[in-house]
Amino acid sequence: MSPRAAKTQAKPLRAGIYDRVSSDRRGDARSVAEQQAGNRAATDANGWDVALTAADNDVSASRFANGKARPGWESIVAAIEADQIDVLVLWEPSRGSRELVAWATLIATCRSRGVMIHVTSHHRTYDPTVPRDWRSLAEDGVDSGYESEKASERIKRSMAANAIAGRPHGRVPFGFERVYDPATKALIAQRAHPDQAPVVLEIFRRINAGEPIVAVTRTLNAAGAVSTTEGTPWARENVRRIALSPLYIAKRRAGGELLDGNWPALVDEATFWAVTRRLNDPIRKTTRPGRARWLLSYLARCGVCGATLAGIPAKRGRPASYRCGGGTVHVSIGQQVLDDHVVVNLVAKLADPGYCAEILAAADPVGLGAQGEVEALEAQLEEFRDLAGQGELTAISLARVEAGLLPRLAAAQARAAAAAVPAALIGLLDLEGGAAEVLLRFQEMPLPARREAIRAVMTVKVNRAANRGDNRGVDTSRIEIGKAQRP
Ligand SMILES: [Zn+2]
Repeated sequence: MSPRAAKTQAKPLRAGIYDRVSSDRRGDARSVAEQQAGNRAATDANGWDVALTAADNDVSASRFANGKARPGWESIVAAIEADQIDVLVLWEPSRGSRELVAWATLIATCRSRGVMIHVTSHHRTYDPTVPRDWRSLAEDGVDSGYESEKASERIKRSMAANAIAGRPHGRVPFGFERVYDPATKALIAQRAHPDQAPVVLEIFRRINAGEPIVAVTRTLNAAGAVSTTEGTPWARENVRRIALSPLYIAKRRAGGELLDGNWPALVDEATFWAVTRRLNDPIRKTTRPGRARWLLSYLARCGVCGATLAGIPAKRGRPASYRCGGGTVHVSIGQQVLDDHVVVNLVAKLADPGYCAEILAAADPVGLGAQGEVEALEAQLEEFRDLAGQGELTAISLARVEAGLLPRLAAAQARAAAAAVPAALIGLLDLEGGAAEVLLRFQEMPLPARREAIRAVMTVKVNRAANRGDNRGVDTSRIEIGKAQRP
């Protein structure tokens, strides 16, 4: 008999009731009094004893309301942890907490303490130790987390009016310094910092030239460049954040818009947007969730005929598999078996510092320079085509321009391709956390990027099973991992 079942028989369950209304949803939220009545009625109807009631009013539970005290909520959590209640009674999940992490923690705490969660507006009591209930509760947290994001968007929009004035505010961004009136202490201007601004420029220049963030970070540290936090070396996240910040083209993001600031730009817009494009890996943008689910279809090959393998969905109890996509089915192998084997091999390779060094060394400066050249030539070409489109340039002139630019572009593209670090690998190289971090990052990548990464590192071949009966077995010895050909 479970401890809770024992408790149930001994005496009525002890309920902790929590009521709250947050001010940013006044329009559709019930008042505290209404919630209290509903929660109290539910508690009575279930025959629970009220061990504790707590309420917070006008305090947002979301993560966008940091630092505000929630005394009622805290007393409820303390009571759960002290085993003083058996059932937590809420009006709706978002009354509990609209912060996803806090909500997940609460569910986990309730589960470990054997505390049930009654959601009055659902007319339901959930038992977090039951997987189905746990999932419902967790999903509710995700939904209300989304609500909170939307509320935050609304707040940001109203802040936009402030931002339109274009005054710098908040922390002084790296690369700038602020000048104040010595008498009034009023801000006079934000201007380029003599030591930091050159570092910002260097970051943009290098990334624009195709250098991976990890290499840029290393160079900055090797050169002892002044960093965002005095005395500490550059971290990749900081380099990336700077490279994506519109502050350096004198703009600020507000409510999804870019607003002009009244400070000087450190970087020209063409460079800034080229860098943004480069860092927002195009592979990510073409992801259509739910479309492709095969990690290795049309990528792994048949060891007999060399055709690529096709994914065969699970059917009538048979697990999903890959099989030779040529005319004859030479080989067939379980999807999970092949996927797992390939991922393990890939992670081991990418976690090897020697291998990372090899890839980064292949990205020689000439090739990296060529990547920058490609972008520049493409931009020029686009500009001329725009001019022609607007009638500012005749068709003949355009043809002449193209005749000059296209061969240069092709040559630069060839050089860049030979030396570039594949985009899908950039985020996987040289990670401090070793294999575990490589695996984590890899799994977070969208499927097309994961496939790209595999393609860039290895070839996969599946040979015939020695024993015909073992086609779907776990025998991995017939999987042949080879080295990817550098283009
Ligand atoms: Zn075949």
